[in-house]
Amino acid sequence: MSTNIRSVRGFSDTLPPQTAVWQKLEGRLRRILDAYGYQEIRLPQLEKTELFSRSIGEVTDIVEKEMYTFADRNGDSLTLRPEGTAGCVRACLEHGLLHNRQPRLWYAGAMFRHERPQKGRLRQFHQIGAEVFGLDGPDIDAEMILMTARMLRSIGLGDVELQINSLGTAAARQDFRAALIEYLSGHRARLDADSLRRLETNPLRILDSKIPETQALLDDAPRLSDYLDDDSRAHFAALCGHLDAVGQPYVINPRLVRGLDYYGRTVFEWVTTRLGAQGTVCAGGRYDGVVEQLGGKPTPAVGFAMGLERLVALLEEDGTVPEAPEADAYLVLLGEAAEREGLRLAEALRHDLPDLRLLMHCGGGSFKSQFKRADRSGARVALVLADQELADGTVGVKDLRSRDGGQQALPRDAVVDFLARQLNMTKHSEG
Ligand code: ATP
Ligand code: MG
Repeated sequence: MSTNIRSVRGFSDTLPPQTAVWQKLEGRLRRILDAYGYQEIRLPQLEKTELFSRSIGEVTDIVEKEMYTFADRNGDSLTLRPEGTAGCVRACLEHGLLHNRQPRLWYAGAMFRHERPQKGRLRQFHQIGAEVFGLDGPDIDAEMILMTARMLRSIGLGDVELQINSLGTAAARQDFRAALIEYLSGHRARLDADSLRRLETNPLRILDSKIPETQALLDDAPRLSDYLDDDSRAHFAALCGHLDAVGQPYVINPRLVRGLDYYGRTVFEWVTTRLGAQGTVCAGGRYDGVVEQLGGKPTPAVGFAMGLERLVALLEEDGTVPEAPEADAYLVLLGEAAEREGLRLAEALRHDLPDLRLLMHCGGGSFKSQFKRADRSGARVALVLADQELADGTVGVKDLRSRDGGQQALPRDAVVDFLARQLNMTKHSEG
């Protein structure tokens, strides 16, 4: 006997009824993006490997060790996208979306990173993200942050913390980098293996090490804020001013650096303490150099991405995930004539009540077994067609939620009104 094939480690299925939670979540987030004037862009999941190494940076965790990279049949090196920004920039350049325009775009979909799977960390995960091009002021940064705040509130997450920081210009980071290397080199013995490696490759990343000993060492390290250029300092002060003006709370986290090389100036994260080390549910910032790095004209840009698995995990923890019944009404059909008539009745009801979620019983069986199914579906109402109803021109209706609710017979043309009342639905508008 052959064994069953299982899914790939770190690649998970999302099953009903949990898919209903995802739909609701995605729907709400989309509505807000739409309300802020962002338009959807749909991008491929597979790109040329070079796109990511040139934008994200060769010595980042993602490019060094997390990408799903392979040669296709022609020998071209391709990569399953680990994030959405690089592909978005590529598409904007390829289709000339940046000529004299400042597009505000959003995308959603699967991303792929070969990481150690754990709670809130998968190898295929899903993000909703947005990018704005051509605007360099702190006003758009502020508006984008406020939009992410509204997105998180809209799904019932009011208790996440906004952290912000400024990374300054590349030159400022270069000076800071040198100072940080000098300081940390004097304390090599206290650094963990990962940080030692990063000291050579990407020392700024040591700032967001999760290891307490390393964090303690950083207390006396040089501070990036002391190295900021005047323009970046003013930009950041103006951003803080905007957030203050609308009463948006935030915490300035001087160690917030983000894991991707392309960020400069504004960076921000929405963080919760409720998901262990996987506490960042939304992360973003400015990446003013990337468009040029990928061959376009110098174009400022700012964006963010939210990890949907982590949002769903938080909602589940809160118990705010609703039980999703399969249907509002279940149509019980006994006998061949009833089955024929049932299909007609179901179509008529679907026409008259566009919001009705109706499950028509298929496959025959006894009353008892059909009612069992009806109960299991979570439907409020059972509709019944059998010989008696066919002969009388009626439909049996039964409230499945009340214990004592017996079945009553309604004339065929009264069923729509009954359901509309019972389920609090509006009818298809006449005329
Ligand atoms: P982390 O520090 O948690 O690894 P990151 O800095 O690598 O996050 P980004 O590349 O900025 O994350 O991605 C934005 C968001 O996408 C994260 O804040 C997180 O919510 C989500 N995310 C990133 N990697 C994963 C993953 N492997 N599984 C699930 N969600 C993820
Ligand atoms: Mg990561």
